[in-house]
Amino acid sequence: MRYERPLRLRFGVALICTASLVSSVEHGEPLLLRDGGRGSGGGVNKEAEDANRRQFERRVATCVHFNGIMNNCCRANIDYQQHTGGLVFGFASKLPCIPSDSEDVVPCDLFQARGREFVEAQDRENKESLSRMTVARTAIVEATDGERGVEGEIDCPSCDGKLRYTVAGLNGHIWGQCSTEGCARWME
Ligand SMILES: [Zn+2]
Repeated sequence: MRYERPLRLRFGVALICTASLVSSVEHGEPLLLRDGGRGSGGGVNKEAEDANRRQFERRVATCVHFNGIMNNCCRANIDYQQHTGGLVFGFASKLPCIPSDSEDVVPCDLFQARGREFVEAQDRENKESLSRMTVARTAIVEATDGERGVEGEIDCPSCDGKLRYTVAGLNGHIWGQCSTEGCARWME
């Protein structure tokens, strides 16, 4: 799987990923990595775990063709708005692509649930991708010694590729991209 557009990093913690393959983001939710070692027990963690589980099950039950309603058509080329009867307020609740309690859902012959394996593979890829980005970012910070308003190229710490980068003069935000397709690529 490949990211088609760069990851967008916010505060180094939550990723807003614009890639089409990440379903949680298709719903406009930030992608959070769940096993960040916050310990176990406690009401807040329990709530977070329940929320994570619900979101996971939701993704499992979402169609493999769904690519977010910021697109006109899904991956099976079904036009979202046409399918639900044209541009009407609330058309998204009628879509069969994602789990819905609405009674107005318009069924789709091409619906195919993602399933657990698919979603687990997505999560693994997201995690690996974040890890590649993190080591790449660290390498850039070391190479530039914290300097701003610079750009350059270093060896990618994750592969044989070249890592190109820009560090913004104004706020120090880093844009990075490895020459290897599917390796690290992000902007902050
Ligand atoms: Zn690389």
